Amino acid sequence: MRLLSGQFDSSKRRILVFSAISVVVLLAGLLALQYFSLVKLQKTSRDAQKLTRLLFLQTVAAKTSDEYLHRAQQLLTLPMPEPSAKDVNQIETHFREQYWKGAEFVFVAFFTHKKETQILIFDPAQNSFNPHFEWPVHVLEPVLAPWQLLSANGISPDRGKVRVNEVNAEHRILLVPILDKSSRVTGVTGMLADIGFFRNEFVPSIVRAYLPKYGSAQDKITLTLRSPFNQLLFSSDPTSRDDETSVPLPQVFTDWRLGLQGQGLSPEQSAGRNFVLNFSLALMMLVLLGGAVGLMLRGAMKEMKLSQMKSDFISNVSHELRTPLSSIRVFAEFLRLGWIDEPARIRETGGRIEAESQRLTQLIDNILDFSRIESGRKEYRFEKTSLDTVVQNALKIVEAPSQRANFKIDYENLTLNSPQCVIDRDAMTRALVNLIDNAVKYSRTSKNIVIKVDQNGDFATVSVIDHGIGIPLSDQQRIFEKFYRAGSSLVHDVKGTGLGLTIVKHIVDAHHGRITVDSKPGAGSTFTVFLPWNNGSVDRRPEEDRPTPSKPS
Ligand code: ADP
Repeated sequence: MRLLSGQFDSSKRRILVFSAISVVVLLAGLLALQYFSLVKLQKTSRDAQKLTRLLFLQTVAAKTSDEYLHRAQQLLTLPMPEPSAKDVNQIETHFREQYWKGAEFVFVAFFTHKKETQILIFDPAQNSFNPHFEWPVHVLEPVLAPWQLLSANGISPDRGKVRVNEVNAEHRILLVPILDKSSRVTGVTGMLADIGFFRNEFVPSIVRAYLPKYGSAQDKITLTLRSPFNQLLFSSDPTSRDDETSVPLPQVFTDWRLGLQGQGLSPEQSAGRNFVLNFSLALMMLVLLGGAVGLMLRGAMKEMKLSQMKSDFISNVSHELRTPLSSIRVFAEFLRLGWIDEPARIRETGGRIEAESQRLTQLIDNILDFSRIESGRKEYRFEKTSLDTVVQNALKIVEAPSQRANFKIDYENLTLNSPQCVIDRDAMTRALVNLIDNAVKYSRTSKNIVIKVDQNGDFATVSVIDHGIGIPLSDQQRIFEKFYRAGSSLVHDVKGTGLGLTIVKHIVDAHHGRITVDSKPGAGSTFTVFLPWNNGSVDRRPEEDRPTPSKPS
């Protein structure tokens, strides 16, 4: 039966250990998985942030060109169906109404059949055509030449679209062809781009309009405009550094670049920070989870140990009950059969029956006491009592069995007057009997036990000293736990329930005292109960001034 329970227990323990290892492996796997997915996420989020920034930059660049060309288109598209040199007044009115600061000046050129070109310059300063306007002939001529050619050859270009000529970066010209009914070029309207306006007003206004539409409060950016020689022309933030990325402007000012800088962390840094944060969180959660599982497994182990202890307890109690009962039955049978008839032997047998039943009573009392303690029903009746009286009571109870086992118990009272303590006499007697009983049980060949009453500060002390098998340090804390029995084979040779010291500790605690153990394997043990004394009758003189302690006969 014991073997079976042992096997069952070890297989349960194996299952628990296996579960613990599985949980650790699972958690490590989860952590590794989390790590790799976070590394991937770090890369993806960094790339995503870079792409978002690039797309935003491209959008702003496209909007800049679109808006600029749209304004130019409005200015340069004449409202009449077939504009000609006769419509000069109407054209002038149109330029006046549609004039926009993006143009340094506006012009209209008509190509005549005689391959001549009539050019009218609209002067923004005068708000009218100005025949005396000093226009850069060398700039306009090469721009107009291809259109003259188209006109002379009657070739039809696409209608309406603004053409940008940036061959001369200092003089960027935007043109819209004038077409007749049959879509042949009869002239062009054009404007000279105002570079200062583009750089100082137009781009900044577009950037300011679009910048708030980007990202979040954490991801702030700066937009810049740079010339082909990387000269900074404009920046949305005065403390700008090098651009992270840049794109050329499409369609107009195509040699200029719009650039972007992150104000806070770079995409790499912020992805790295997110990685560290997420990984630490994951690690923390897994540590917590591991801790919880560890606690659960520990609880299960403890529960298993307790159930093992309980089953040991039942088998030990059965044995403890059976031994005195069979002795009593044998002695009773001898008497009934008349095998013992001498009065002296009858008295001796009666004494043995009495001793065995006393042992039974003590065992049952211990079990009942333990059950009361466990269910919280244990009650104490405290009264002022001399500690000496309690020790004498306990000695009376253990006298007969210890004498039969050839034990010599010495009692030393080192106090002048025996200390008066508030004690539950029966409970404290039981505690001392349990301690003396253990001293007898675990003494083996050395058959001398000493009971010592003394004082220690505000405490009266009772020590039970034996020279028996002793208790290893690792067991000393645990022997007060319920059902606990030290693991040595010397202990298992002696029968016991593992309840004696649990009860002693409970009783001592109820008296607001404490119990200590001082023991060495092979050298014996000293259990000392400390009880608060409260009437000043304890001898407070130094040890050397005290009288020689009385020893029992
Ligand atoms: P038990 O019924 O086993 O004696 P106890 O609660 O009284 O139960 O004691 C718990 C354990 O403490 C014992 O099993 C024994 O290992 C150890 N023990 C108690 N008293 C002594 C002692 N005087 N000497 C050696 N070991 C002791």
